[in-house]
Amino acid sequence: MKKLLLLFIFVVQSFAALSVEELTWDNGDTLLKFLQRNSIPMSLYYGLDREDQELASDIAYKIKYQVLKDENNNIEQVLIPISDDLQIHIYKDKDRQYTLAFTPVSYQKEDRILHLTIKSSAYQDVYEESGSSTLARAMVRAFRGSINFRNIQKGDEVTLYYEQKRRMGKLWGDINIKMAMVEINKSAREVFSYNDIFYDRDGKELESFLLTKPVNYTRISSPFTTARYHPILKRYRAHLGIDYAAPTGTPVKSAGKGVVTFIGTKGGYGNVIQIKHDSGYMTLYAHLSRFAKIKNGQKVNQGQVIAYVGSTGMSTGPHLHFGVYLNNKAINPASVVKIAKSELSGKAKENFKHIIAGYEQIVKEALASNQPNPPKEEDFENYIEF
Ligand SMILES: [Zn+2]
Repeated sequence: MKKLLLLFIFVVQSFAALSVEELTWDNGDTLLKFLQRNSIPMSLYYGLDREDQELASDIAYKIKYQVLKDENNNIEQVLIPISDDLQIHIYKDKDRQYTLAFTPVSYQKEDRILHLTIKSSAYQDVYEESGSSTLARAMVRAFRGSINFRNIQKGDEVTLYYEQKRRMGKLWGDINIKMAMVEINKSAREVFSYNDIFYDRDGKELESFLLTKPVNYTRISSPFTTARYHPILKRYRAHLGIDYAAPTGTPVKSAGKGVVTFIGTKGGYGNVIQIKHDSGYMTLYAHLSRFAKIKNGQKVNQGQVIAYVGSTGMSTGPHLHFGVYLNNKAINPASVVKIAKSELSGKAKENFKHIIAGYEQIVKEALASNQPNPPKEEDFENYIEF
């Protein structure tokens, strides 16, 4: 799919016509192939360090990216989103040399409260009231471990306290539900989010794991982190998965039932398998030494051996890099795979109690004052502007 937006911008000095193309990243495409195809020096990629080469392999299939070209069809700038927070920016510097940088995506965060009485179904009502299917899906994820949606009837009440992102006036990326409450037959059930995991009010994790751990590991050598500014390196870093250290040859198992959508090599990730699961989830297994006897398009079961741990691509030692994606964006695997203990204790629990008390106060005040629901959002396409 190629959509030419034909946005002509007149640069004052040269009066050159520039055009912006919005393109879709193909399955199996890599940054290296992209540079090669567009006659951009491949040294941009080879000059990256190990972590950035890995990150550059994380461009999601089907993600929309923008290319700014001059009148001779030469690339002036490229913006490729890596996550809600980070993008690859390729541009010509003041000496007209191509440069690559990971830059943060700028957006505003907004806290919102939505309250409604069920008329047909929780999903449908939340979608209609907010105009946001992202919010309706986020609610389903929030309640997954505690509420059977079939028990929610007409007349029951749902309250959602959440954070959304806005970019260029439009909703951007995923929604983070901080607190969700449902009153079924006048009895209230609440869930609270803390470090991407949902808990009840006592700090017990609401176990609803869609996926199982993909490998028997010795330790987690690198956790998931979204865009973070590194003050010494003076640039943004991220790690969009979990690294499980394990000896070469350790079997790698599919984290869930699904269909193999990619099997091959992918830049800094080396040998990679991707598996598509239900409800928009996808898992990625990287640095594999070899694959089991599986083919692209094949169905796999949860726990089925799909490959073996290795150190292919940009890797310092044998480990499995495990990524989880929801609608093609990397999410914290800890939110869908059991990683830590299932109950908060000590300082974490104290901190959790403090945070949820704040959430409850905000929601209570909003409901007591009959605060109106946020204005309905328009359907949107994630669009990035230069
Ligand atoms: Zn990794």
